[in-house]
Amino acid sequence: MARIVQKFGGTSVADVDRIKAVARRVKAEVDAGNQVAVVVSAMSGVTNQLVAHVDGVSSLYDAREYDVVVSSGEQVTSGLLALALQALGVSARSWLGWQIPVHTDGVHGKARIEGIENDELSRRMDGGEVVVMAGFQGLGPDNRITTLGRGGSDTSAVALAAALSAHRCDIYTDVDGVYTTDPRIVSKARKLNKITYEEMLEMASVGAKVLQTRSVEMAMKHGVRVEVRSSFADVRGTLVVDEDEIVEQELVSGIAYSRDEAKITLVQVADRPGVAASIFGPLSEASINVDMIVQNVSHGSGSARTDLTFTVAKTDLSRAVATLEERRDDLGFTALTADPDVVKISVIGVGMRSHAGVAQRMFQCLADKGINIQVISTSEIKVSVLVAEEYTELALRALHTAYGLDTE
Ligand code: ADP
Ligand code: ASP
Ligand code: MG
Repeated sequence: MARIVQKFGGTSVADVDRIKAVARRVKAEVDAGNQVAVVVSAMSGVTNQLVAHVDGVSSLYDAREYDVVVSSGEQVTSGLLALALQALGVSARSWLGWQIPVHTDGVHGKARIEGIENDELSRRMDGGEVVVMAGFQGLGPDNRITTLGRGGSDTSAVALAAALSAHRCDIYTDVDGVYTTDPRIVSKARKLNKITYEEMLEMASVGAKVLQTRSVEMAMKHGVRVEVRSSFADVRGTLVVDEDEIVEQELVSGIAYSRDEAKITLVQVADRPGVAASIFGPLSEASINVDMIVQNVSHGSGSARTDLTFTVAKTDLSRAVATLEERRDDLGFTALTADPDVVKISVIGVGMRSHAGVAQRMFQCLADKGINIQVISTSEIKVSVLVAEEYTELALRALHTAYGLDTE
């Protein structure tokens, strides 16, 4: 007998028929003699709708109330799935984050899980009951509901698997695994049987939405065996594993994109010590994360002026511009330009550690397509470039071919 956690994403619980199908899948695991805990997302589109309601009421919203509203989608699906299981004769009950509780820090809207109390859940599972947990939510130190950031049900599932010492954590979604790139954009994308935690972490952090970044961090830390698989087809998915479990390592394992960033350029800021700190300090105080940064060539010799370009989350763009404009006199820039129409494209692969030329191939491929690179950043196993958003599909497809990742 094994203890397993199954997580079902928004499309998998999109309507009552699909929730019934999920119940049948859960029952199959129970009938096979397993102890099962299920984590559910809200029905697809519901969380977006809830966020829109909040935006419609107030743009300067109180994040604690945002969490009360946007966490509600998962409450509905947890109850419906418990009912669907009961209808099949399976003993089941729903659990909201605060009832377990799933303890989180107090960063409303983007909280981190700190621990899950599992005695009662374990006892019930030992007694044959299926636990149906609402994903995406927890309880903060202020005794209020928190949410874990968009896509956070993945993290709920992995955290629950770690807390319950589960043998597996199966993430059921609308694709049948992790692909070399988003299969909805590149039809020649190839499914990976296995991917390392490290590569999955990097892929997620640069935009591959198939798993939330924190869920991969947590799986890596606690050694949770995660498999990404399809809710709709009965085929093997993609296992996220340690590096030593992968026999043949590709140079590049994946390509990801993110449309969530925006670019800011400060023209002619003083080129002297302390300037970067005086620009990025206020942004960080306003909880605005800066991702890619490039300092351009100075204008003329002796002018000691330089252009500074960097990216922030699109959702933070207007706040970032306001924060910088307020300090225009101190910072001394002559102009500020903001461009939300950009996309960050990244190639990822642990093979980069030992092989040169990966970045060069990327630059050459984009040049051949006439795509201008605006900003570049690298890490040990990743190269990212910022290009105009209109080139997203073209760049992804061309790079996918250039790195030999296309399916035959
Ligand atoms: P869920 O609602 O089940 O959590 P998500 O929409 O969050 O599903 O994640 C699944 C989606 O991730 C897929 O539909 C696909 O478009 C996207 N995706 C992006 N990159 C990849 C990738 N490399 N492999 C698989 N899916 C990817
Ligand atoms: N329902 C939440 C969202 O849409 C959490 C999730 O689906 O993982 O972001
Ligand atoms: Mg998701």
